[in-house]
Amino acid sequence: MSGSDEKTTDASIRVRCWGTRGSLPVSGPKFSAYGGNTVCTEIRCGPHTLLFDAGSGILPAGKTLTEEGVSSFNIFFSHSHYDHIIGLPFFAPFFVSDTPVKIWSGHLYGNMSTEQMINEVIRPPWFPVTPDIFRADISCNDFKPGDDLHPHPGMVIKTGNLNHIGGAVGYRVEWGGRSVAIITDTEHTPGSLDPEVLALIEDCDLFLYDSHLLDSEMEEYRGYGHSTWQQAIRLARKSGSRKVGFIHHATWRTDTEIKEFDLQAKAEFPESFFARDGQIIDM
Ligand SMILES: [Zn+2]
Ligand SMILES: [Zn+2]
Repeated sequence: MSGSDEKTTDASIRVRCWGTRGSLPVSGPKFSAYGGNTVCTEIRCGPHTLLFDAGSGILPAGKTLTEEGVSSFNIFFSHSHYDHIIGLPFFAPFFVSDTPVKIWSGHLYGNMSTEQMINEVIRPPWFPVTPDIFRADISCNDFKPGDDLHPHPGMVIKTGNLNHIGGAVGYRVEWGGRSVAIITDTEHTPGSLDPEVLALIEDCDLFLYDSHLLDSEMEEYRGYGHSTWQQAIRLARKSGSRKVGFIHHATWRTDTEIKEFDLQAKAEFPESFFARDGQIIDM
């Protein structure tokens, strides 16, 4: 059954993008194709369900996964800026008695535990109630960026520091001989490739990458902590990665613009795509 720690021969990996927007949810006809929910990504490894970040996309994720009978979860935080945590109190499985939910973070290592982080953000006056109302069996796990995590037998998750104000963590999930990485949020220095990012995405089957900005916008947004789809392609080439998906779309980025960028990106690197809310990538 889902989430069981019994040995499995199911080596499948399914990636579902539940939220692909950055900074703040958006809605309206200009954003209907790519969607407006903030960052939340599911990586299903055989019977195991991993969620990365709890932006507003975790609302449809929790509802759908519950309907699909998933009964055990791991949630990993890249960091705790609003767009990556705002959906957490609305995660439906929190309200189902005894559902195992393990929450992991490392970006605040040494300064604040995962449990403290959650208790700080889900409380008055920012929110009407505290996590005491949850019925799930929630456990919090702290790690140091650079640690390898082993949430299930046969699974390794590598972690690394990203370049973002206040810190952020990138992840690489290895399962059944394949690998998927999530790199958000991170800023690059034009003209160089971050060695820590390269280590996480080396020879991977797919990585999702912070593409909030364009190369032409980097100067104006220097210090904001974000990167570009053009940088993602440079990283993909250098690392030997087979596929790259662009996430964390800026709030001002319309469907029309993203479709145009998607064509430009595919012309440079055919195995690339701008991710949209609800997209499924089976591997
Ligand atoms: Zn963000
Ligand atoms: Zn951020």
